[in-house]
Amino acid sequence: MPVTWPHLGNLEIVLKDLITAAGQPYILPPKNTARTLQLGLRHSPEFACLPLKITIGNFIEALEAGADTLIMAGGIGPCRFGYYAQVQRAILNDLGYDFEMIVLEPPAMGWKLFVDTLKRIAPGKSLWEIAKAIKLAFRKGRAIDAVEREVLKYRAYERKKGATTKAYRAALNVLDEALFEKDAIDEAKEEALGLVYGVEKDVDRPVLKMGIVGEFYLLLEPFVNFDVEEYLGHSGVSIERSVYVSDWISPGNNNIIGGISEEEIKRAAAPYLNHFVGGEGQATVGHTVIYAGHGFDGVMQLFPFTCMPDTIAKSILPRVGRDFDIPILSLVIDEQTGKAGLITRLEAFLDLLWSRRMQREKRLLSV
Ligand code: SF4
Repeated sequence: MPVTWPHLGNLEIVLKDLITAAGQPYILPPKNTARTLQLGLRHSPEFACLPLKITIGNFIEALEAGADTLIMAGGIGPCRFGYYAQVQRAILNDLGYDFEMIVLEPPAMGWKLFVDTLKRIAPGKSLWEIAKAIKLAFRKGRAIDAVEREVLKYRAYERKKGATTKAYRAALNVLDEALFEKDAIDEAKEEALGLVYGVEKDVDRPVLKMGIVGEFYLLLEPFVNFDVEEYLGHSGVSIERSVYVSDWISPGNNNIIGGISEEEIKRAAAPYLNHFVGGEGQATVGHTVIYAGHGFDGVMQLFPFTCMPDTIAKSILPRVGRDFDIPILSLVIDEQTGKAGLITRLEAFLDLLWSRRMQREKRLLSV
């Protein structure tokens, strides 16, 4: 039973270890390409959100490669994510594929269902073995996210363009190859961080500070966001991102990597949006308020066309921008979006941020 799952940023590095620890063979879908997107578009409802379309493409390509068991996360709404697995199953059945689908619903839907599903993924393993593997997976996932966080922060300072990306790839390899055990993961994390910190930097270079908020899949999957973070880093922008994979999955709600707990996010969002609207809607507002309060130069929101939670957030952000005097760029992405158009809008936004920065500095000098 080779199992598979859709791509989501660096999540596959952790899932490979976890599925191996569960005693299962796996087949990764090929990397996301235009073909993946085309397959998803051809077989998905037109108004489905972009992540559903791409994950359908992932599953088709993995099934073609020989996978026969699909693992998908579930959800409890109110956004459409909770229906993804059911829609994917129906579409793939209609296409005639023969497969089993395992939907990992969140514990909020009942611990028994959650544990029974884990046992289906890891047959023959004790609950203790499963819990130990999950703990290690979080350890490795957090190590990967910690490295990524530093890359986003420091890429803007690199002396040689591309050096941070090169170090990041090497760091991910180190973490990928680390044995699935505590000490090995900790050592790999130190080595990986060392590679990123070792990149020669110009720390005196003026850089912009930008927060990136929005829908998690668009923030975490470079194929769909055109690797916008790398572009920004090369354009002299130091980034703080609202979502990391291990924070998003973690049941603790403490957001260890991002460093801002769910409680703080909700409190910050409350004057504008004081209840959960699904997805990252409330978090988008809360993070924007927090980034504005920390003196960031600007905030960029990314979300897929027809995404309900972040569309709600988008309608609120102009007020946040006025109240805190911070520029906010909302970018809606769908299958028609092209990289050139996206970059053009970003260039204009960065020009605005630099000119505001210069005006502020002039004002300070004249005081
Ligand atoms: S958060 Fe938005 S894009 Fe993501 S699944 Fe929900 S509706 Fe779709």
